[in-house]
Amino acid sequence: MASDKRRKKVRDRIAGLQQDERRRLYKYAARLRRAAAEAPDKTKHRPDCATWDDEDGLPPAVEKRRRRHKGSLRQWAEALVEDGDLGERETLTGPEPDAEGMVLFATAARCRVLVAGGDEDETLDCGVSPDLADAQRSELAVGDRVQLVTTRDDPTVVGLLPRTSVLSRPDSGPGGRHVQRVIAANVDCAVVVVAARQPALRPRLIDRYLVAVEHGGAEAILVVTKIDLLEPVERRQLDDLLAPYRALGTPVICCSSNEGIGLDVLRAALHDHLVVLVGQSGVGKSSLLNALEPRLSIATAETGASQKGRHTTTASTLHRLDEATRVIDTPGVREFGLWELSVDELRGYFHEFDRFAGRCKYSDCSHLHEPQCAVREAVARGDISTARYDSYGRLLESLR
Ligand code: GDP
Ligand code: ZN
Repeated sequence: MASDKRRKKVRDRIAGLQQDERRRLYKYAARLRRAAAEAPDKTKHRPDCATWDDEDGLPPAVEKRRRRHKGSLRQWAEALVEDGDLGERETLTGPEPDAEGMVLFATAARCRVLVAGGDEDETLDCGVSPDLADAQRSELAVGDRVQLVTTRDDPTVVGLLPRTSVLSRPDSGPGGRHVQRVIAANVDCAVVVVAARQPALRPRLIDRYLVAVEHGGAEAILVVTKIDLLEPVERRQLDDLLAPYRALGTPVICCSSNEGIGLDVLRAALHDHLVVLVGQSGVGKSSLLNALEPRLSIATAETGASQKGRHTTTASTLHRLDEATRVIDTPGVREFGLWELSVDELRGYFHEFDRFAGRCKYSDCSHLHEPQCAVREAVARGDISTARYDSYGRLLESLR
């Protein structure tokens, strides 16, 4: 009885460990077990006493937990070895993942995962394993590739695979701390959506988005919606404004969902990619998706009914445009991606500076106030767009 009680206590504690702690515990227990098997006189040949801080650099959360539990790694491991039945594989490593999928929608505790099947995809509503590190649990994002255990009653996410790209925005977390919220992971391409008007087009916002997209490791496509609202003269002004982006090689597509302009070009640009749509609320992202694929019938500002819910939504969702193309729709994101961006990186993202920057007097020239700055000279000559240079200055200011 007493031993059952103790066993349960050990089990409960182990269940509360993080993956990383658990792995070390079982590694150590295995060493103890081997040592005991090799030498009949166990006590002499046990590996030296080990504590949780054997390995350097424990994350703060683990460190806190360790202190709370007090016991040494060795005590725990001994308990494990003595209770032989805890040595079962299931308890040692947890069940092996048996499937992989892509997160469609995530909250901290649950998520919806798309699992590619032979003929048809399957969507699973999954729990998230407590073994997933705390940071990863709260960070699971649309587009994440995850490992699943599907054999249980409640399919569970047990692992997060490395990301190829991460678009994120700063947010306030617990206690007003600045935290990173991932908007979308693993996208090949981010469609930066702005409206020709309503709301007014702000080039500085475009620049901000482009920097963020490149920083996150994705390619950008710039889409200007609602061009049906422009008079011909305004249309020419828009073209002038867009010229620097075209010169940089960024694909620029002008569209109207209402009049079906530019949709084929956009559809072709998106084909076969995992893309994310970013842009302020009201620029016409939902209308654009519906125009590309009417089957989606996403609620827009126009269709009203679910308007309230729509605007309070904070999670991104994934839509399937066609067989090979998937689009992540984000809630109106005002700001994103300038997470941990250094001044050096920012400079590097204004590619029109590249050609001139080498000729600045100072190699670490910020191009703001240094003498003999080749970038500022290029701006003065009109070789670099003044609007883009101004954006750079503002962005730099915001980093300091
Ligand atoms: P979202 O918040 O970015 O998803 O924007 P919506 O798709 O809900 O569109 C916001 C408003 O812009 C709605 O009133 C739409 O009818 C309008 N809108 C969207 N696309 C166009 C367009 O191509 N032309 C015009 N004139 N209005 C549009
Ligand atoms: Zn310079």
